[in-house]
Amino acid sequence: MIIKFAKEDLTQRFKNTLEVNHVDFTMGKNDRSNLFIINKVFDGLVLKLLLKNDDFNRIGDSDFIITDSPYPLVSKENTLNEGLNINGLEINENDLILILGPCSIDSFKNLDAVGKFLSKNNLHFIRGGAFKPRTSPYSFQGMKEDGLEILKEVKEKYNLISVTEILSEDDISKFDDVDIIQIGARNMQNFSLLKKVASLNKVVLLKRGFSATLDEFLSSAEYLLLYGAKNVILCERGIRTFNKDTRFTYDISSLIKLKEMTNLMVIGDPSHASGESNLAYSLGVCSSCSPINGLMLEVHPHPQEALSDGEESLNIKEARSLLRTIKKLRKIYNDGKII
Ligand code: PEP
Ligand code: MN
Repeated sequence: MIIKFAKEDLTQRFKNTLEVNHVDFTMGKNDRSNLFIINKVFDGLVLKLLLKNDDFNRIGDSDFIITDSPYPLVSKENTLNEGLNINGLEINENDLILILGPCSIDSFKNLDAVGKFLSKNNLHFIRGGAFKPRTSPYSFQGMKEDGLEILKEVKEKYNLISVTEILSEDDISKFDDVDIIQIGARNMQNFSLLKKVASLNKVVLLKRGFSATLDEFLSSAEYLLLYGAKNVILCERGIRTFNKDTRFTYDISSLIKLKEMTNLMVIGDPSHASGESNLAYSLGVCSSCSPINGLMLEVHPHPQEALSDGEESLNIKEARSLLRTIKKLRKIYNDGKII
């Protein structure tokens, strides 16, 4: 069960009441510090405590949720999470966000070209890796702090929302100016990193580990919300299957299934899932006509010169064509905006 109190004094009194009655509970952090997450074995007792007390029983039906979900904060039943509002930009359930940008940031000029494209087309989200998780230690590891600085300059120039990946807890203080912190597939179950990033009270984009079940994926998102993340966006980015012919397998079934399992925003990343720009384009188009909330795609002005993942990156012309197609299709699908 999840219970939310609007008033500080009531939260404290209810906490005391639970303690006196030996009820096991966990409290959320940051914006969720007024939430009590209570093990379902105590549901009956807690309901009685709520009803017995005149103050407590004034909390409305919408302020508590009975759920036996193992991840109550991210569960579908939990309507206590407000919708996503980031830097004043309100995103509704029917809207589709497009997070576009290079795999790794390599120069101001190249990221600026993406920023210009986004701004011209009234899109709001820019991605770009500064700290890169690379399979080989000999591959380009990212521009690190210099990359973050370029991302900041471009997002400020075009008034965009920035998304970039953190690899290590040691770098956390460098991410102050980042709007959405990405936790990549390889770190999905790095619980200590999840807790630290959550404590920043920012929106977190969590990518699915490539062999993670949806239960494991949602449990990691639960860590983020419990430890104080403002909100979480889930991203399916391809899983490992027996197929050797594509980089990973874009798990569209799970992408859509997640929308039935959670109240969180769910997006797809067909670039990393497929490893090839033409496949990413088609998979992006296909999955845009589904209940998902967005797509992340790699876009680089000169993919052949990119320092990582050039083969799966769209150029600006292809990104423009993708946007045009998705706009048409999404209009048939629902009445939301492309943001
Ligand atoms: C990325 O988005 O740059 C990335 C490395 O993705 P993933 O963690 O899904 O491999
Ligand atoms: Mn990449």
